Amino acid sequence: MGTVDAPAVVLPPVPPASPARVNLLDLDRVAAEDFFERELGEKRFRAHQVMKWIYHRHVTDFGGMTDLGKALRTKLEDRCEARPPKVMFDKPSTDGTHKWLLGMDAGNAVETVLIPDKNRGTLCVSSQVGCGLNCQFCSTATQGFNRNLTAAEIIGQVFVAARHLGNVPHKDRKLTNVVMMGMGEPLLNFENVVTAMNLMRDDLGFGLASKRVTLSTAGMVPMIDQLAARCDVALAVSLHAANDELRTQLVPLNKKYPIAELMAACLRYVRSTKIDSITFEYTLMKGVNDQPEHARELAALMRQFCRQAQDGHAAKVNLIPFNPFPGTRFERSGETEIRAFQKKLLDAGILTMVRRTRGDDIDAACGQLKGQVMDKTRRQAEFRRKLEGSADAAA
Ligand code: SAH
Repeated sequence: MGTVDAPAVVLPPVPPASPARVNLLDLDRVAAEDFFERELGEKRFRAHQVMKWIYHRHVTDFGGMTDLGKALRTKLEDRCEARPPKVMFDKPSTDGTHKWLLGMDAGNAVETVLIPDKNRGTLCVSSQVGCGLNCQFCSTATQGFNRNLTAAEIIGQVFVAARHLGNVPHKDRKLTNVVMMGMGEPLLNFENVVTAMNLMRDDLGFGLASKRVTLSTAGMVPMIDQLAARCDVALAVSLHAANDELRTQLVPLNKKYPIAELMAACLRYVRSTKIDSITFEYTLMKGVNDQPEHARELAALMRQFCRQAQDGHAAKVNLIPFNPFPGTRFERSGETEIRAFQKKLLDAGILTMVRRTRGDDIDAACGQLKGQVMDKTRRQAEFRRKLEGSADAAA
């Protein structure tokens, strides 16, 4: 993999949010309009002006919002803030990929990755600090679950990348796609994720088309229906196995929501939203789920789904060669197996891509995001505790 260790960085303290101040990044358009009208006694369109300053021009200092009157600016300074996460470090890769470590509060940090391609820029966004689902092949799982991110912390990741790129919506846009494929299970942080995805798609926000915002889930069946009702973004489902026995081993959530229920929810999603295909993610692990019989099983499941959806392209498969991380027992499938697996699916008429790893040199690949500095911080904290312990013992 040619990974390099992150430089040892001591996290500077992040100032705690003032409880008296409302972070405007927590409010989507409707919530912001209500807040301006009810709480600030202002016209609703004032919220639009402020949103444009924040999301189109990346201005977070109310004093710089020059088309607002002095009285409103002062009121905003007293009552509100527009506070994105703090950039702890910023790491470009040799292949153009860019990774940020963003401090959320004292001791919590998440990673966000920008993957530029010919005419698109995709940002991989986190929804939780850590994750509680315990998927066996994911490095985030080794961290356990810490907490949900706020809407401001989620949209703040997009803000940091957009500001870095000088992204201008509706013009020469450099940030074109967002995938909720960073740390965490987005459907377990539903309200905050929906608010943030509303801001990604709103013209007053980042103005991305719905189909350019993708939510990836390990298969929270009831929340897939909720998502369809609230926010029709593109849906990616982490399948990884087409039989329940193997899938339960890899993705323990499958015990609660087995494949048949998951596929039924996916069918309801394509039937009830403007989104007409689901991407099924399948991480290929050597000798585990990459054999010809696994490909046959997957092809049969995908064909059944397309038949039920009455659309031969309703299922797309994204094969992800496993990305290793320290301590894992899994290995990446060989190139021959990956090609053979893809061919079997293509021969069965299923649209199948192999996702090529980017950002190898900065540990930015799928399933590798983990907040390395957090690890180091944790180690530093342990080290400090030990030190204090020995100091106590010495006293
Ligand atoms: N919780 C969500 C989103 C986070 S992971 C989900 O499960 O979909 C984004 C994708 O990366 C998922 O498909 C996940 O299964 C995959 N992934 C996790 N660890 C990986 C690894 N080590 N190598 C390759 N893909 C991995």
